[in-house]
Amino acid sequence: MRDYQMFINGVFRDASDGRTLESVHPWTGDAWARIPRGDRADADAAIGAAHAALRGPWRDLSASARGALLRKVGDLLARDAERLAEIEVNDNGKLLIEMQAQMRYLPEVYYYFAGLADKVEGSVPPIGRPGHFAYTRLEPVGVVAAITPWNSPLMLAASKIAPALAAGCTVVHKPSEHSSASALEVARLFDEAGFPPGVINVVTGLGNEVGDALVRDPRVARISFTGGTDSGKAVNQIAAARLARCDLELGGKSPNIVFADADLDAAASGVVSGIFAASGQSCLAGSRLLVQDSIHDAFLDRLLAIAAGAVVGDPMDSTTQIGPVTTEAQFAKVLDYIAIAKGEGARCVTGGERLDRPGWFVRPTIFADVTNAMRIAREEVFGPVLSVIRFRDEQDALRIANDSNFGLAAGVWTSDMGTAFRMSERLQAGTVWINNYRMLSVMMPFGGYKDSGTGRENGLEAIRANLETKSVFLNHSAAVANPFVMKL
Ligand code: NAD
Repeated sequence: MRDYQMFINGVFRDASDGRTLESVHPWTGDAWARIPRGDRADADAAIGAAHAALRGPWRDLSASARGALLRKVGDLLARDAERLAEIEVNDNGKLLIEMQAQMRYLPEVYYYFAGLADKVEGSVPPIGRPGHFAYTRLEPVGVVAAITPWNSPLMLAASKIAPALAAGCTVVHKPSEHSSASALEVARLFDEAGFPPGVINVVTGLGNEVGDALVRDPRVARISFTGGTDSGKAVNQIAAARLARCDLELGGKSPNIVFADADLDAAASGVVSGIFAASGQSCLAGSRLLVQDSIHDAFLDRLLAIAAGAVVGDPMDSTTQIGPVTTEAQFAKVLDYIAIAKGEGARCVTGGERLDRPGWFVRPTIFADVTNAMRIAREEVFGPVLSVIRFRDEQDALRIANDSNFGLAAGVWTSDMGTAFRMSERLQAGTVWINNYRMLSVMMPFGGYKDSGTGRENGLEAIRANLETKSVFLNHSAAVANPFVMKL
């Protein structure tokens, strides 16, 4: 068992009352680490430290120096990438090769925002008032609470922490209670890089304890939340009541749309990667497959051949293609949805059951004859379960795709560029992939329409979300204005 401590005000420490939570290997169910179960007092201490740090040496550091510190974190992450990948797998059970790829990319996120830190510029609008000069300043919003889930712990945290620090904010990070170890490892790297105490704090614990305390505290200016839609809505209500900024990255039920003129080999590979990679535990999972009538049966056969032959097992083994589901609760939820789909009349063509071995393994599952009204087509399962729905033509595909409470992502497979452009314009989704799926870049904004969230992470928008705009009017004339008339 490894023991971890939280990082508050530059100091590693236990929870104030000494309680702990266990981190568990999803493929055996065995505990491998103990993390502090922080409470409201710990959240309060971290917020206090972050709030004080806004007025400390951090405020006087130049934007370029902030960028240099972030660059250093990127370098340290690159140095420790392999070790961090294993720690992430220990907690979330995703394939080691997947987490290695994520960890190799992670430094790029810090480098990108490091580069933006000193490109945050105000403006000088030509207001046309003689004797006056007007300009805008962009200032950090203040303390940012970063609340993150377990599926891609460090990548999702980086998309919040790096732009917030680049903007000059300070941060309290609350990782998921199921995957906190890697965040505490990264806290050591922030320390090693030389960030002043309190600028970045990591408080571990439960959502309804530490998370709730962060959302309610008036010293927290902005909440950046990634998680389930129900949790996100609850967080948003509390934030709205005190007018805190709140950006939400939530769930999805994304359509992967295959037209008859598509390259079917490429489409089959993209559809499989969209739903079975990471055992479907991806907010952007392509969990609804929309297939054009004329190729429906042939395409389903291709999918079956890949899914039924996929190697399910130990995520540390490089030959494994599909790992376990991350938590016992999630495992139970996936099996529940499989039962619901069967009850609704969907036809299970492969999988549909757990694997007979220790750990939380579900066979890759495909349901055919799904209608878009079924729960299996409307609700997020967050597991390796694909719902296949037929469509007639472009209009029909668009209608079904957009008939969803979610709007995170969509995939379109076609060789007709007209179809590709029209679909990309009309799909209600924050990301549209044409002839690919699951590609991301720190330079491309990511976020959802509708119940999939508000705001965007990554890209230039991510740093703007952490900035206040101040308008300054400066009078350099000697004239005294009429006090009873607004100066327009
Ligand atoms: P979750 O909502 O249960 O938890 C997410 C985080 O929020 C955790 O740190 C949790 O402790 C905290 N939390 C929970 N309730 C809270 C509350 N009331 N107040 C404050 N904090 C609270 O989600 P999860 O099960 O960890 O993650 C899976 C979900 O995340 C899926 O729905 C998935 O689609 C979504 N997700 C979205 C994106 C995206 O970018 N849109 C990315 C990854 C995951």
